[in-house]
Amino acid sequence: MSRPLQARIDLAAIQHNFRLARAYADSARVLAVIKANAYGHGAAPVARALATEANAFGVACAEEALELRDSGIRAPILLLEGPFAAAELDLIDQARLMTVVHDARQLDWVLQARPRHPLCVWLKIDTGMHRLGMTGEEGRAAHARLAACPQVGELVLMTHFARADEADTAPTDHQMADFARLLASIPAGTPPARSLANSAAILTRPDTHADWIRPGIMLYGLDPLEHPHPRAAALRPAMSLTSQLTAVRDLGPGEAIGYGGRFVCQRPTRVGVVAGGYADGYPRHAPDGTPVAVNGQLTCLIGRVSMDMLTVDLSNQPQARPGDPVELWGTQISANAVAAASGTISYELLTGLSRRVPLRYQPSDVANAD
Ligand SMILES: *Cc1c(COP(=O)(O)O)cnc(C)c1O
Repeated sequence: MSRPLQARIDLAAIQHNFRLARAYADSARVLAVIKANAYGHGAAPVARALATEANAFGVACAEEALELRDSGIRAPILLLEGPFAAAELDLIDQARLMTVVHDARQLDWVLQARPRHPLCVWLKIDTGMHRLGMTGEEGRAAHARLAACPQVGELVLMTHFARADEADTAPTDHQMADFARLLASIPAGTPPARSLANSAAILTRPDTHADWIRPGIMLYGLDPLEHPHPRAAALRPAMSLTSQLTAVRDLGPGEAIGYGGRFVCQRPTRVGVVAGGYADGYPRHAPDGTPVAVNGQLTCLIGRVSMDMLTVDLSNQPQARPGDPVELWGTQISANAVAAASGTISYELLTGLSRRVPLRYQPSDVANAD
């Protein structure tokens, strides 16, 4: 293949970020969230890179879990949304998966299942996200039934934060208090393990770390926080979306670039064409001025992003030539900067990388080891 666009995946960076999560939350176990193909980084290679260190992996559905089992991953895997149909309970048993239970329907499926192995259930409590999960009395009763259920082995009580990335700590405090109330309502006996923290809470809220942390975006080296934080500054971005200049043009004042003529040159302008467009997952909404690195130097997008190409300002690089290296996001240009300019978040950029973009692993021995 000769099209220069590729996503380089630095597995050592992912290991570094994982160890930071572990160090920030000393005694908690770590469930590495690798749903959505490990946020676009490749689920199997990422799982292999973390296989000896992660206590478990989190995925969105059984298909994602089976892909990991098929590539030889034997660690515990949690279905973060639980089963979507009763029939999935068989598969959960056969593939030895852990499952979330977030509502009465899933609770029935678990209570009626006849698995060969004890089921590990993560009971999801809604403390303010108001998406999935049980509240108050319903959660307490579900816990009692699961605790009394012979086929249920380990039980974890979990909740998910809606606003842990914000500087205002009040919404998270509120969710914590709600979770604590539910825990207190559980009769004495074997207390369930607790899991609350996503990346934002791992970085900023030691009081949320509890028994299991669930890092996602921070593993990939992206800071989820709205405000600067020293713990986030130690993260290393794992994906670099890189390409090359495929053409260099000199345009005069008044000449417009690309579809819709969105950018009109005000003065003689050197323009670089880059192999990479919205069909690769680069956001079409990126405005003029979105940062791009060419030859390691900061410049910016000018003109609308096309399907397979985009155009950049080379006015400050008279020596630039076709073949010169470009980084669209990665270590020189944060995916957060591209996302902020384009009205989205790094999560959407990373997971939106299209199948057409080859993933190149470094170091490759970690990616290929069995
Ligand atoms: C995706 C997900 C996470 C990880 O969130 P990040 O913000 O990427 O750290 C944690 N917990 C649950 C339940 C999730 O669905």
